[in-house]
Amino acid sequence: MKLICIGRNYAKHIEELANEKPENPVIFIKPDSAILLKKNPFIIPPFSNDIHYEVEVLVKINKIGKHIQQKFAHKYYEEIGLGIDFTARDLQSKLKEKGLPWEKAKAFDGSAVVGNFYKKEKFELDSLAFQLYKNESLVQDGNTKNMLWKIDEIIAYVSQFFTLKIGDVIFTGTPAGVGKVAPNDLLIGHLEKEKAFEIKVK
Ligand code: ZN
Repeated sequence: MKLICIGRNYAKHIEELANEKPENPVIFIKPDSAILLKKNPFIIPPFSNDIHYEVEVLVKINKIGKHIQQKFAHKYYEEIGLGIDFTARDLQSKLKEKGLPWEKAKAFDGSAVVGNFYKKEKFELDSLAFQLYKNESLVQDGNTKNMLWKIDEIIAYVSQFFTLKIGDVIFTGTPAGVGKVAPNDLLIGHLEKEKAFEIKVK
């Protein structure tokens, strides 16, 4: 399986990183080796001094598809979740400067937290509230109503390039408020009233 990640999907996050608003969704992929195993802590890797959390709404693909039309995209997922796209921001900035691919900064082992999934019927997908707490203070407060590209648009766009397979997970981009993690931080993600993950940093 693969993790398909969308970058720059919330206007305020684009501003905080001084990025340009893209014409199309920015896409990158993490391999399955990036998934942080359940109950494991996130270990800050030795190649970065600036690991950022990015809380994101996740979509689990439940049907194989390519060139999916937006109007049929809702048939390709039944579950929504919440996770973290950990990013080595220092390394990513260097790679960006040189126009190189982001994988080392984005797709390293443990960089993908895949939290709990819930039936999509439970939620109003176009106005889904989600939060990330670091050591009990609210650091990211997002709502899918502020997405530049909605879930069904993302599926239609991504599937023009990549066949979506059962079990693939889409990371739909992070809202504003990204920041650095330090050893002993505790990160807790909430999707509406559900606690979707709890991660200790080491
Ligand atoms: Zn992200």
